[in-house]
Amino acid sequence: MERLRCIMFKAFLIKYAEIGLKGKNRYLFENALCDRISEALEPLGGYSVVREQGRIFVQCPEQYDYDETVSALKRVFGISSFCPVAVIDDSGWDSLTKGVGDYVEAMYPDREFTFKVMASRADKNYPLTSPEICKEMGAYLLRRFPKMKVDVHEPEVRINVEVRTKSYVYSIVIPGPGGMPVGTNGKAMLLLSGGIDSPVAGFMISKRGVSMEAVYFHAPPYTSERAKQKVIDLAKKISKYTGKMKLFVVNFTDIQLYIYDKCPHDELTIIMRRYMMRIAEQLALKEKCLGLVTGESIGQVASQTMHSLAATNEVCTLPVYRPLIAFDKQDIVEIAEKIDTYETSIQPYEDCCTIFVAKHPVTKPNINIIRNSEKKLSEKIDEMVETAIKTVEVIEI
Ligand code: ATP
Ligand code: MG
Repeated sequence: MERLRCIMFKAFLIKYAEIGLKGKNRYLFENALCDRISEALEPLGGYSVVREQGRIFVQCPEQYDYDETVSALKRVFGISSFCPVAVIDDSGWDSLTKGVGDYVEAMYPDREFTFKVMASRADKNYPLTSPEICKEMGAYLLRRFPKMKVDVHEPEVRINVEVRTKSYVYSIVIPGPGGMPVGTNGKAMLLLSGGIDSPVAGFMISKRGVSMEAVYFHAPPYTSERAKQKVIDLAKKISKYTGKMKLFVVNFTDIQLYIYDKCPHDELTIIMRRYMMRIAEQLALKEKCLGLVTGESIGQVASQTMHSLAATNEVCTLPVYRPLIAFDKQDIVEIAEKIDTYETSIQPYEDCCTIFVAKHPVTKPNINIIRNSEKKLSEKIDEMVETAIKTVEVIEI
């Protein structure tokens, strides 16, 4: 079947949701979508993305891997669905009917289903009109495959025929990921830890067309190289959706130790999170990002109560996007599995949040008390933050 598909399907028709796409928006959306499709297929080699009369087609090389192509297209945000297309080189009526019949024969071994032919023609001089093509093609198929039945209202199979210089036939519709093409909606900085939530959060914001850079707070030797590698692996996995990104690895050890040394231990997590946000924001501004993204969800842990979120939020002026804010863990896990980050996320390497946590962290931090505790850091903290930003490691993903 794999081989057959590759021989039969010479192209893919790309469908996208057109609601709200008008004027200049439409043009930007389509350009970005074509670019993102090209990028997604580039590692596989030999494809071209063409636009024809307001439609987007992917033309496949002679030899290609059908399943790999489908998986790649399933990761391009902006595609609502796509259809593998067989090409019939000669649009003359006899070769067209034969071509469509051969397509049905190859695709549907039993040929016991209800169907409807949907036709369109680009060439208005074609001897048959679109309704005539539907009717005559339907009659041809019924003669050739007597077990098939026409159902114009709820057919099991819609056989689409597009008559042009060459003709196209397709009947399989593969769902795409939906969303908007990455790059149509600015850029954000994702706080990417090794956990389950933040990769999912990045995926979700990116789905709305937002490009992503990421920052990871690393605390060697308390967090190992393996923990860092896990974050790099996660960044690679989500970059299959978000496209290329930079991963900023901040060495957070000195700051964490300093907080540990100076501040009450039940406030450690909150204060540490506030410094993460501050540093992330500075990197975000340097990178021209318009917001931060985290994997926080109300009530999941002590540092994510409404009080704690308020305390972490107040240190930033950029908007902080928290797409998982109202999700249950199980719902997040389902998405993580779907986007193939779950198995990596559950590898048991420590992250810096777990190493320095207090036994009984505050769950209702009082912002004034936290601010006061932070005053105890005033001697060195600014310099430490500056150093952390200056020494950041940048990994191109
Ligand atoms: P996750 O599953 O994403 O690690 P979590 O449930 O473990 O989240 P926390 O550890 O409280 O929650 O972290 C909340 C959010 O803060 C994370 O989703 C992530 O966006 C960010 N974050 C936490 N630790 C780090 C880190 N070491 N580097 C970068 N971002 C981090
Ligand atoms: Mg975590």
